[in-house]
Amino acid sequence: MKPMDKYKLWIDGMEVEAEDGAYFSVIDPGSGEEIASAARAKSADVDRAIAAAERAFHSKAWQELKPFERGRLMLKLANRIDVEKDRLAKLLSMENGKPLRQSFDEVETTVRNFEYYGGWADKVHGRVVPISNDVLDYIRLEPLGVVGHIIPWNYPLDIFARGVAPCLAIGNTVVAKPAEDTPLSTIEIAKLSGEVGFPAGVINVISGYGKEAGVALAGHSQIQGLAFCGSIVTGKEVLRAAVENITPVVSLELGGKSPLIIFEDADLEEAASSGAHSILYNTGQSCGCLSRVLVQKKLVKPITRRIKEILASVRVGKWDEDADIGPLVSQGQLDRVMSYVRLGKSEGAELIHGGHRIETGAFAKGYFMEPTVFAGVQPGMRIVDEEIFGPVLGIMTFETEEEAIRIANGSKYGLSAEIWTSNLSQAHRVAAQLDVSHVTINGGGGFGIEAPFGGVKQSGYGREGGWESILQYSRVKNIWVNL
Ligand code: ADP
Repeated sequence: MKPMDKYKLWIDGMEVEAEDGAYFSVIDPGSGEEIASAARAKSADVDRAIAAAERAFHSKAWQELKPFERGRLMLKLANRIDVEKDRLAKLLSMENGKPLRQSFDEVETTVRNFEYYGGWADKVHGRVVPISNDVLDYIRLEPLGVVGHIIPWNYPLDIFARGVAPCLAIGNTVVAKPAEDTPLSTIEIAKLSGEVGFPAGVINVISGYGKEAGVALAGHSQIQGLAFCGSIVTGKEVLRAAVENITPVVSLELGGKSPLIIFEDADLEEAASSGAHSILYNTGQSCGCLSRVLVQKKLVKPITRRIKEILASVRVGKWDEDADIGPLVSQGQLDRVMSYVRLGKSEGAELIHGGHRIETGAFAKGYFMEPTVFAGVQPGMRIVDEEIFGPVLGIMTFETEEEAIRIANGSKYGLSAEIWTSNLSQAHRVAAQLDVSHVTINGGGGFGIEAPFGGVKQSGYGREGGWESILQYSRVKNIWVNL
């Protein structure tokens, strides 16, 4: 498959060029070659997209749709994405580098989001508040209006869908800005929304750079809500831009340094596999990546050995090579991760596996590196305090439950955690004490779109998934009727 040459913006139900006709290159991280270009939106284009979303929000075409009809449209989009899944998954893999199997997973999650929130559209009830016999006091959940979504490159379709779908379910309109590395598959989904009959302007997608389109979107006076997923540094910039108009940044997800806690009665094989898998999947470029492996003393040696064995047997490859791990998304990301490998060594952690860029033969121009493991990692080292966002694992040791909790919580991040133990009381006790929003006990995948996910501490706030998303993308109005 060859992608089209030029991808335009999707504004007001149409493909349009940026006002100044500019484009930027989109690169295949597996080959370092340009695969397509995407329109480079600037502030004038952001204005156009927001104006279209604003008109659509007040339009009869959107306002007079009954909730079940909105839901039906969303189900049609879900179905259409499913029909097009081969094409979308390939495009996603080409722009992001992830193995095709993982892109199919992501397209499936995208479908599920539109299905799931399509189902919510006609089930969002308000409530009646008991005040007195003379008063009818009721609460409506209303849409916010135009909601902006600034999306990262690690799960472009999943993060687009998990934010946009609940917005639409409750009647918002949206302007989404995909990351500059990965705009193509999102633009394709926007086009499908036009084909299945979404009124013009309800969904707008503008590709462009963060410093141009992203800044303009975050600081725009006409958006009523904003969702951001990305780094802490950028998240702070987004908050600063939004404060100008008191725009509620309803969801801010800023990464993590999630602990995988393995107690000595854990299933060794499963727990080790979970640790290895977490840095292989999406090349470790996941906010919820379990990059800190905390192992109770008795199991440290066998867990370390097993993780090493698993990683020694993985296949690295391009997106279409059915590999276990693909490239990092960009040269910049590769440089960043490699600098953390050097840092880990200089901090005195023991590099026990990987640690090199792979640049032989067919890998020469891509952004590949070996999955990497450090043992003997101590609290306070930067490689465990900072998010690396790549295939780098740090193994730490603890002796008691209290120590495990202390190390796990000793991070500025708080997103997710995973616990392995055959003692269920211990599992629940520890889960309750972790400063995160999401805990997995004994593996099994851990994430469902039907349940909330988000940050605490500097991982951010807000919750995506489940009913919580509906609440976060709606506003509460209270009406008092004097009977
Ligand atoms: P990374 O540094 O890994 O690319 P970012 O957090 O910078 O991650 O990017 C996440 C998203 O935020 C992308 O869509 C990017 O274009 C956008 N972005 C980057 N800088 C800004 C900014 N100053 N204001 C708004 N959006 C931005």
